[in-house]
Amino acid sequence: KTTHTEHTGHKVYDSEDDSHGDIRLRTLQDLRFALTDDQLVLHYQPKVDLVTGDVQDVEALVRWNHPTRGMLMPDQFIELVEEAGLMHALTQEVLRKALDQAAVWQAQGHPLRIAVNLSASSRVDMELPERIGAMISARGLTAAALTLEITEEFLLNDRDRARAILTRLRGQGIRISVDDFGTGYSSLAYLRDLPIEELNLDQSFVFPMVDDARAATLVSSAIALAHSLGLRMVAEGVDNMAAYDKLIGYGCDFAQGYHLSRPVSAAVLDDWLAARGAPPELVPAAPVAPA
Ligand code: C2E
Ligand code: MG
Ligand code: MG
Ligand code: MG
Repeated sequence: KTTHTEHTGHKVYDSEDDSHGDIRLRTLQDLRFALTDDQLVLHYQPKVDLVTGDVQDVEALVRWNHPTRGMLMPDQFIELVEEAGLMHALTQEVLRKALDQAAVWQAQGHPLRIAVNLSASSRVDMELPERIGAMISARGLTAAALTLEITEEFLLNDRDRARAILTRLRGQGIRISVDDFGTGYSSLAYLRDLPIEELNLDQSFVFPMVDDARAATLVSSAIALAHSLGLRMVAEGVDNMAAYDKLIGYGCDFAQGYHLSRPVSAAVLDDWLAARGAPPELVPAAPVAPA
């Protein structure tokens, strides 16, 4: 029995839980089962090309379809996954599902590149590049099907190790993207010497840019910085038309946000893409009612 919902802001009520500690403990117990019982679900959010309006990239965002508590969002369980030592298993599961979906989209004739979020703890996983390579080829895909989003935290501490892993992934043809750009504690020096192709400007810069001239200057400068280094810039959290228009004016490459689409199931994304992509004269007429 499932309780699917497409709404990302879904509030989870659980009247049986009366204390925060109870929820934590029970969530921790349920987590192990979630992974073996196929309770994780991926939603997809498009990254829209600001020049052409095309969508070639989508980000996979994990949700937990909990049997009694409904659809849980990452901020309700990701930290626990990390604490429980289950991040490795979650990443495998997300990669498996995302690449399965990439294969479906490829078979349907509209290949989309899927971005998967890598936790900072993956930076110690030296076998990761090889495993990902095997998962890609097992599905008849090429590395062009996958982007990995890392945070600046991924680069902290063992920078050499992080570089080694990223260099291997990049060598296989996988694109590396820096998520939540601008919020990390890491020095910008990594932009000089790591095999990165894309920056995701954090939403905390994008939200205030419409009302605040200094915030807008930060955004346009970050875009210029990305371009001067040969990187593409994705603005996150684009939730209104004014921000969208401003980003186009600044020459930003891609936008991701509620103004375009919330993260949705693959089926809903297919409908959204179809409605968006079909030129007006090609939209099929309403079906004739059966006689
Ligand atoms: P993120 O990778 O930076 O993903 C973007 C988040 O911003 C998503 O939240 C998305 O729903 C939200 N968002 C997108 N556009 C808008 C907007 O216009 N307005 C607002 N207010 N929010 C917007 P979500 O899905 O709750 O994910 C939160 C974070 O959880 C992600 O941030 C990512 O760091 C983490 N996460 C999600 N899936 C995975 C995963 O499979 N593995 C790992 N390790 N982390 C994941
Ligand atoms: Mg991300
Ligand atoms: Mg992102
Ligand atoms: Mg973010």
